[in-house]
Amino acid sequence: MADAASVCTPTLAASATGATIHMDPSRQFAVDVVSRLRGAGFVAYWAGGCVRDLLLNKTPKDYDVATDARPEQVQDLFGHKRSRAVGACFGVILLHGPGAAGDVEVATFRTEGPYLDGRRPEHVVYSTPEEDAQRRDFTINGMFYDPLNSQVLDFVEGQADLQRQLIRAIGDPLERFREDKLRLLRAVRFAATLNFQLDPHTADAMCAMADQITIVSAERITQEWKRMLTHPNRLEALRLAAETRLLEHVFPEAVPMLETNAAAKQRWELASRAVGRLQQPQFELALATWLCGVPQYSGDAARALCLRLRLSNDETERIVWLEEHAGAIDGAPEFSLSRLKRLLSHPFFLDLLAMNRARCEATGAPLSNVEFCENYLRTTPPEIINPLPLISGDDLIRNGLRPGKQFKILLDALRDAQLENRIANFDDALRLAMQLSGQA
Ligand code: ATP
Ligand code: MG
Repeated sequence: MADAASVCTPTLAASATGATIHMDPSRQFAVDVVSRLRGAGFVAYWAGGCVRDLLLNKTPKDYDVATDARPEQVQDLFGHKRSRAVGACFGVILLHGPGAAGDVEVATFRTEGPYLDGRRPEHVVYSTPEEDAQRRDFTINGMFYDPLNSQVLDFVEGQADLQRQLIRAIGDPLERFREDKLRLLRAVRFAATLNFQLDPHTADAMCAMADQITIVSAERITQEWKRMLTHPNRLEALRLAAETRLLEHVFPEAVPMLETNAAAKQRWELASRAVGRLQQPQFELALATWLCGVPQYSGDAARALCLRLRLSNDETERIVWLEEHAGAIDGAPEFSLSRLKRLLSHPFFLDLLAMNRARCEATGAPLSNVEFCENYLRTTPPEIINPLPLISGDDLIRNGLRPGKQFKILLDALRDAQLENRIANFDDALRLAMQLSGQA
């Protein structure tokens, strides 16, 4: 443990921490929160990720404040109307800012008791900034900032690691990962998204602990993957997760791509490259594209994976459909008009197209099917690709047809005829319906 904080005025990002960004309401609110706590005689700083982001010249997503005020004192000071205890037993109060300022989390400096379940501490003890820094995960996330005096408080050599571009666990890495296994994935996420290296001791501990990641709840694991796979550096995230062996425990289905033989290596290379080629993908598209690289991957396997990751029904349906239709545009220029239009008007089709483009670009395969579909979409109005049906089931019943098993087949045949321009209006449709049902 560092016995004294390195206290300094930041030089890394004077503009971000200086007085130039008055307009950001969340930042202003975070300054006000610190001022008010100080005015009431408490110690208060910005803490953690927001300090890291400011020192990196990035706009923090949100601001966290650490203070020696107890949760009840924070609530008394700010009023119960504008505050909410979110982790009262861990001393965290959420303060609602005015207008667009968002929320600021105020946490009391604390030391954490033992982690008995590998996920959360048994209890917490209120303590000092120095001790509070020690409970945080990585040195770059372990700093405080005093926005009133523009000073960084750094008990963990976080600034040095920011400059060295290093993700390093605070204290003994094995111990820290043992306490909370989610930190394993957070390390990958920070290293990948910031383009930093993993400190070798931290990386060794990650490899040694990788199989423990499954103790973490699926929701927390999924949350991390969503952030990694939608980030521009998602390729690096996959690479690091594979290197630290976390990937094989989170996605055992990827194991055939992680073997050391040449074929597996090539599969891995192509699948990852395809994910890297996607342009600002949603999570579902990124995951589906990557899974497409797993040999013999099926819709059923994708459904099982989505269930395990606790994805929503909508997310699951999209991923499963993409897996099941991965090759559905092959031969598109030869499709009948009805087959083509049905495919192109599917709600997930644009993802399918993006996935195919990325896969072709990754493998160097010809883009002819992709370009044909892109061109068709560009040059054909939506009301031609997916026109309103000419006739409905109710219309058929009104005209004397009996609803039954054959009805869907009949309606599908009428739809095909419409999409292929063989019928153009209600009368055509009714005539064809009668013919097909043998009542003409
Ligand atoms: P981002 O919000 O971009 O994910 P962050 O560093 O702000 O990054 P948060 O999850 O918002 O991450 O957490 C805020 C701070 O709380 C972190 O910077 C870190 O100091 C601490 N922290 C968060 N999660 C953990 C954890 N699992 N173990 C130890 N400390 C943590
Ligand atoms: Mg944060």
